Amino acid sequence: MFNLILFGPPGSGKGTQSEKLIAKYGLNHLSTGDLLRSEIAAKTPLGLEAKNIMDKGQLVPDEVVIGMISSALDANPTAKGFLFDGFPRTGAQAQALDNLLELKEASINVMLALDVSEKELVKRLLKRGETSGRSDDTNEHVIRARITEYHNKTAIVAEYYRQFNKVVLIKGEGSVDDIFAALSKEIDERNKE
Ligand code: ADP
Repeated sequence: MFNLILFGPPGSGKGTQSEKLIAKYGLNHLSTGDLLRSEIAAKTPLGLEAKNIMDKGQLVPDEVVIGMISSALDANPTAKGFLFDGFPRTGAQAQALDNLLELKEASINVMLALDVSEKELVKRLLKRGETSGRSDDTNEHVIRARITEYHNKTAIVAEYYRQFNKVVLIKGEGSVDDIFAALSKEIDERNKE
C-alpha cells in the first residue's frame, strides 16, 4: 500500500490536487471535509451536529472524524493505497491514523505539505465561495477562523510526521499543473514497486 497525506491550510489546493493525484496513481481519496458534507446533505444526526461546528470554522470532534476514517479504511480492504485530504488535523487524529494503519500492516509513506501565503488563501477561499455553495467559504470571518484553527491545532501535525522524516514542503502557489508536477515527482521517488 502507498499512503499519502496531502497537507496544508484551507484553500491551499488539496482538493484540486487530490482529484488529479487519485486519477494518476489509482489511490483511494479520503477527504474528511467531503465525508462530513455528505453527512450534512443526507441530514444524518452526525451531519446536523457537524454543520454547526463547520459553519463557525471550527474543527469537529476527533472521535467523529476518526470513526469516519476507520469505517472508510475497513470498507476498502483491497485499496492500492489512500490519499488523506484534510485528515489528520490534530495530533490525536495523527496518532489514531497510525494505529489504524498499523492494524493493516501499513503506514504513511509521505506527507506532502502545500505552502501558500495567508493573503492568497483568503483570496482563493472567497473566490471559491462565489460558486462552491459552501457557506464556510462566503464569510471572511469564518475563513479567518479556519486559518486560526489550522495554526493552533493542525500545523503541529506536520511536526509529528517530521520526526519520522516523512514531510516534504511543496510550493503551493503557481499553476495547477506545475504544483501537480512537483507533487508527482515526490510520489514517484517514493512509490517504486
Ligand atoms: P478546508 O480545508 O478548505 O477548510 P475541508 O473540506 O477540508 O475544507 O474542511 C471543512 C470543515 O470540515 C473544516 O473547517 C472542519 O470544520 C471540518 N473538518 C474537515 N476535516 C476535519 C478533521 N479532520 N477534523 C476536524 N474537522 C474537520
